[in-house]
Amino acid sequence: MSKHLHPVECIHPVPCIHPIECIVPPHMLEKLATEGTDAQREKALRTMEVSEQFRGVRIAAKDFAPLAAGVKAVGKQRIVYDANEGTSLPGTPARNEGDPPTGDDGVDEAYDGSGATYDLFKDVYGRDSINGKGLRLDSTVHFRKGYDNAFWNGKQMVYGDGDEDLPEADRLFNRFTIAIDIIGHELTHGVTQYEAALVYRNQPGALNEHFSDVFGSLVKQRSLNQQANQADWLIGQGLFTANVNGVAIRSMKEPGTAYDDPVLGKDPQPGHMDDYVNTPNDNGGVHINSGIPNRAFFVLATELGGFAWEKAGKIWYDTLSNELQAQSNFQNAADATYLVAAKLFGDGSLEQQAVKKGWAAVGINVGGGPPSNGDDKKGCLSLFIPFSI
Ligand SMILES: [Zn+2]
Repeated sequence: MSKHLHPVECIHPVPCIHPIECIVPPHMLEKLATEGTDAQREKALRTMEVSEQFRGVRIAAKDFAPLAAGVKAVGKQRIVYDANEGTSLPGTPARNEGDPPTGDDGVDEAYDGSGATYDLFKDVYGRDSINGKGLRLDSTVHFRKGYDNAFWNGKQMVYGDGDEDLPEADRLFNRFTIAIDIIGHELTHGVTQYEAALVYRNQPGALNEHFSDVFGSLVKQRSLNQQANQADWLIGQGLFTANVNGVAIRSMKEPGTAYDDPVLGKDPQPGHMDDYVNTPNDNGGVHINSGIPNRAFFVLATELGGFAWEKAGKIWYDTLSNELQAQSNFQNAADATYLVAAKLFGDGSLEQQAVKKGWAAVGINVGGGPPSNGDDKKGCLSLFIPFSI
């Protein structure tokens, strides 16, 4: 359950106002607003404006819990709404739980993606929906005309159609439901809201983004039945059109390499604490510095091999649910994953050593002793003596 419903930056306790959690980071939209064609620039400005309007809409989990309580959902319950290119939410119901496919790609992708996300949390981690109590998963597609973003507004997911309104040569974004990891990412913001409630600013905010990328990627990997070394570890692959010089909006494997485009700019993510970005923008770099824990998770998961959602994912889920608080920073998260790995798999276990190695690869030391240089031989891991005094 949620432990910290009110981030410290809130001036008024209720409703709790803090930014909505969008998938497309502000630095990308800002670059687009200056470098794009006239049509692209105008759209980027509109997208930023809408995000700004929704800042006041975001409310704390407990404030909408009574609304959700009216919906006595048991097990997987989804509704996908159609905003019909308007702005009022949630819009018109387009597909309810158990309905057959509609033939509308956005509606069906939102339905399938929220179902796959529900299944990961339920089947693997034993969690019944976002709030752990069967909260119905509401999604709205076709939000505004040609809206270039997707977000979780504290109650539901909302997806734009990308640049379908522009001439083909100007199109940069496909519809936002096209990438299942984006759907998993948005829904995980809801889980985080009910659990650690990480403040959406600076390192706690970057962790908030990180957990969404982790479980978003795990939703995708599980839907494709991919082992850690088979996965692309990209976030939002498929979202860019062929007009963009880039493969996705982020790379967990190699932060900073997802795109390098004359209009969208270059992926600014660091993959090591040495390159940590101190910035007032993007809520203190929440979409930027998330590259650091993202890479730690990738190193851990590939070190362990197999299905990443099974071991690495369990350590991360337990950490998010039981160990972190609203103000937790990278070191707190790293320390917590190290302790959780011992709890789940044993002190000095291979799993715990892989956690240490993952964090060491990004310049964060856990568990005492010298930082691993990342080149440990597996055969040496059993010699590790946990730090005790
Ligand atoms: Zn996000």
